[in-house]
Amino acid sequence: MTQPPKILYIEDDPASGKLVERMLNHAGYRVLLAERGLLGIDIARSEFPDLILTDINLPDMSGYEVATALRAEERFADVPIVALTALGPNAQDMAMAAGITGFLSKPVDIEQLVTQLQYYLQGGQDKIDSERLFSAQVKYTREVVSRLEGRIRALEEANDSLKKLDGMKETFIQVTAHELRTPLTLIYGYSRLLEDHPTVNKMSEYDQSVKLLIESLSESITRMQRVIEEILIISRIMTKQIDLALSPTNMSQLVARILESYSDPMQQRKLTVHFDPAQWPRQTQLDTELIRIAMSNLISNAIKYTPDGGHIYLRAQTTPEQVIFSVRDTGIGIDVADQKRIFEQFGSLGDVKLHSTSKTAFGGGGLGLGLPVCKGIIEAHGGKIWVESQGRDPETCPGSQFMVTLPLVVQRPRPVLSRITK
Ligand code: ADP
Repeated sequence: MTQPPKILYIEDDPASGKLVERMLNHAGYRVLLAERGLLGIDIARSEFPDLILTDINLPDMSGYEVATALRAEERFADVPIVALTALGPNAQDMAMAAGITGFLSKPVDIEQLVTQLQYYLQGGQDKIDSERLFSAQVKYTREVVSRLEGRIRALEEANDSLKKLDGMKETFIQVTAHELRTPLTLIYGYSRLLEDHPTVNKMSEYDQSVKLLIESLSESITRMQRVIEEILIISRIMTKQIDLALSPTNMSQLVARILESYSDPMQQRKLTVHFDPAQWPRQTQLDTELIRIAMSNLISNAIKYTPDGGHIYLRAQTTPEQVIFSVRDTGIGIDVADQKRIFEQFGSLGDVKLHSTSKTAFGGGGLGLGLPVCKGIIEAHGGKIWVESQGRDPETCPGSQFMVTLPLVVQRPRPVLSRITK
């Protein structure tokens, strides 16, 4: 059985679209509707209709331009493109110049529509004499170029104001984070003072929960400080203000210390770490603090996304120029489709209600800044980071392996614009 002819109708007025669709369906055609020129082009490319009927005044581009764009492709050379236009000699000439096969007057003559379309489907073509066509082509080309110029200017203006807005947003983020950091440091200091305060110690003898309350307070403040640090780093990375404070860095010791800081939650969650300090370089020239943040994020992710009783493997190999290391876990894994996205800022933002800033609770999600921060830090050092995983499956836990390369000595710090004073 042969398929009914497919007609694409590009029309921004839904009522006209529906009317024509109903008419043509009734006559046995399949109709595809598009409300904008660009969408029409996309549908034409994917569906390859037998005929395209287009309005001229569309919201994004004109029906003429739709025809010209499609005619530029070999496979659309013979597809009839029919314009719906208020009849007038100039409009017809322009339609022909744009590569349109024929034109129908608007509003659509419902009685005649099917017969008219059949004419074009069977190879019919409207014609104007060659002189008129030539002068219409010249006029049409001028109009298209002038519209293009207008569009480029408008885009440039929009781009400039977006850049300005983006700069303002970055400044706002940085100023806010800085302003928050100072009082937070004070609050943290006071909470630590409270923890050791003799009166509190006395009170704790009667009521154990007092100590616990103050410890929880300090812990929450530490988490807030970490979020603010991540926001500041990501903002510096985005504005290319990351400036490395290079110093001798003993990676072996650095990783051991990070692991030590996670030893309590790892014990509680019965996670086993496989780490041989001898594999890790002791003499590197890196920004110790930034590398600590990156390593810490990778390790805390491995903890967060590995169910209780799992394993975390930290391996490193050193060549004369670089260290290649991996953080592998036996956790839930990461879908192949997500493996790029998770390194993009806020790329992992899911349900806000499920967010928790816990660095160690199983499955706890954060702001989705950890990996972009890692990427920014590693790349600022001239290194690379990527992930390997067979996919995400909380049942079978295929695991994830984060791979990192880092030069042992960063030759040349990345361009320094300014370092935010702490
Ligand atoms: P978050 O704060 O959400 O953990 P990250 O940027 O550190 O943000 O990680 C982004 C996303 O990548 C996470 O939400 C998680 O889905 C995925 N992910 C990161 N590390 C792992 C891992 N080791 N195992 C499984 N998924 C991971």
